Amino acid sequence: MPAYKAPLRDMRYVLFELLGGDDLTSLPGFEDFSRDTIDAVLEEAAKICEEVLQPLNRSGDEEGCAFENGVVRTPKGFRQAYDTFREGGWTGIACDPAYGGQGLPAAVNTLVEEMICASNLSFGMYPGLSHGAYVSVHTYGSDELKETYLPKLVDGTWSGTMCLTEPQCGTDLGLLRTRAVPSGDGSCKITGTKIFISAGEHDLTENIVHLVLARLPDAPKGVKGISLFLTPKYLVKPDGSLGARNGVACGSIEHKMGIKASSTCVMNFDGAQGWLIGEPHKGMQAMFAMMNAERLAVGVQGLGLAEASYQGAAAYARERLQGRSLSGVKYPDKPADPLLVHPDIRRMLLTQRAYIEGSRALAVWAAKTLDLAKRHADPAERAKAEDFIAVVTPVIKALLTDLGFEATNLGVQIFGGHGYIRENGMEQLVRDCRIAQIYEGANGIQALDLVGRKMPAHAGRFLRSVFHPISDHIAAKKSDPALAEFIAPLEKAFVRLQQATTFVAQKGMARPDEAGAAASDYLRLFGLTVLAYLWAKMAEDSLAKAGQDGFYRAKIGTARFFMERLLPQTGALLQAITSGAKTMMAFEDAAF
Ligand SMILES: Cc1cc2nc3c(=O)[nH]c(=O)nc-3n(C[C@H](O)[C@H](O)[C@H](O)COP(=O)(O)OP(=O)(O)OC[C@H]3O[C@@H](n4cnc5c(N)ncnc54)[C@H](O)[C@@H]3O)c2cc1C
Repeated sequence: MPAYKAPLRDMRYVLFELLGGDDLTSLPGFEDFSRDTIDAVLEEAAKICEEVLQPLNRSGDEEGCAFENGVVRTPKGFRQAYDTFREGGWTGIACDPAYGGQGLPAAVNTLVEEMICASNLSFGMYPGLSHGAYVSVHTYGSDELKETYLPKLVDGTWSGTMCLTEPQCGTDLGLLRTRAVPSGDGSCKITGTKIFISAGEHDLTENIVHLVLARLPDAPKGVKGISLFLTPKYLVKPDGSLGARNGVACGSIEHKMGIKASSTCVMNFDGAQGWLIGEPHKGMQAMFAMMNAERLAVGVQGLGLAEASYQGAAAYARERLQGRSLSGVKYPDKPADPLLVHPDIRRMLLTQRAYIEGSRALAVWAAKTLDLAKRHADPAERAKAEDFIAVVTPVIKALLTDLGFEATNLGVQIFGGHGYIRENGMEQLVRDCRIAQIYEGANGIQALDLVGRKMPAHAGRFLRSVFHPISDHIAAKKSDPALAEFIAPLEKAFVRLQQATTFVAQKGMARPDEAGAAASDYLRLFGLTVLAYLWAKMAEDSLAKAGQDGFYRAKIGTARFFMERLLPQTGALLQAITSGAKTMMAFEDAAF
């Protein structure tokens, strides 16, 4: 397994130098988060990820989870690692101090999440799902539910799940069948089968708090008739101690392509006692509080895995000796030159790197905006931040996981046949990354959300929250010759994005299939243009500091590579988008 070193230098660069992270302290509740404090958090996070989580990544993949008599055992070392993680306070770093959390800014938490995913995604699933459950209960739960469950979710003694999926109902939650029957005492009896439930059963915590989507007896059909319930594995007594086992049990676990140390469970609810979260039939709203946070976090999974792959690939390319440089021998004292001399290897490494550093900037930009949306004193600023989050959430989820998958795949290619061999750890990163493109709403569904919901919302107001900073930046920098090599390609991509937007908005209004056919290409064009904007800003900032050290010169070089070698994809994407839906939709069903 390649050793993982948290990329703290780049993380600090993005947070403080690019995005002005120092001003987080001006937000109410963040007064104590000075740069020194944040630095200390990042360093401690790096330590636990590098020293505790990463060493279990390969062994966890080999051993996987085991299921016996309804009990799930996580791989060797996971329990101990979880205890260390929990005792270090990591389960609650981004949670409300009123319930024992540390209230860290989302911008910082995103970087910690990246390190966790890079070092051991399977491990990260357990606290990750708990955090999603925490968000829903914190946002929509009654005071009683909050008092009973949040402190334990925050300190990690209990974990959480989200139970949406059923055998007949994945993307289309309107088909959901799990029932909730009121018991007359304020609770309901939940009955039904959920599948693919991450962390549904395991041996890391004393209790598991399931958030379950189910239908009440009087529920309207479809997604408008779904309610959200909190259903613990063990019932909780009035004094907070654990009581009897509730009517929920794990029926089996899945054997899957990746994240093998994360348990993926069939969960059977058999008259289990559950309590409504939020209002009846408004479960989707409550679940979305959780899912939006999770979607950003899933994007960051792609980013973390890509970083782990890049680190392995870059080290390997320096060490592995094969062939000679096309421009003449570079290391005559060695039997061959290292892979690093070959243009094709550089193409792959720089592709990984340009995607990773651009994605990191985007993820932290979004997370910092989330902090503004929650805490800015001015309601108008909060509303502006909400618009931005609404539109970038599906983009981050889909783009960062797609790029993560491409980047981890390149990592295998750089290792050649050795990348295909399990013990080198590079293929695990590809397998682990693959699920991130599917769960939390498959990437195709994120694209439909972008074109179908976010694009038309409020006559394009959401889109403008992203387009305006880009167009303002182009207008402000266009006449600076020193920046032309970055601003000109950005402008070209932005024009393409606007053309694609007009096409999708107009055609899609008349024929929804047109929007559906364009959606995935549109999301990628959108995402690459946003990355180009961030790369243009990083290049400008680094040009001013290029004399300081190689870090900034590498930034400029990577920015150039992104603009010249990756951003041109936007031309092909626009062409595909504007070719319309006809080639797909005219194809006869019977011919497939
Ligand atoms: C390892 C793992 C962990 C998971 N963890 C959880 C969990 O913790 N909790 C939970 O509830 N679920 C979980 N899931 C389930 C996951 O969220 C679903 O698999 C996912 O939402 C897709 O649903 P599906 O598999 O039924 O696919 P389907 O909904 O059948 O979709 C199949 C394909 O069709 C596409 N598609 C479907 N509908 C449309 C449409 N209207 N338009 C265009 N394309 C469409 C999809 O994008 C997808 O590519 C997990 C799954 C796995 C494999």
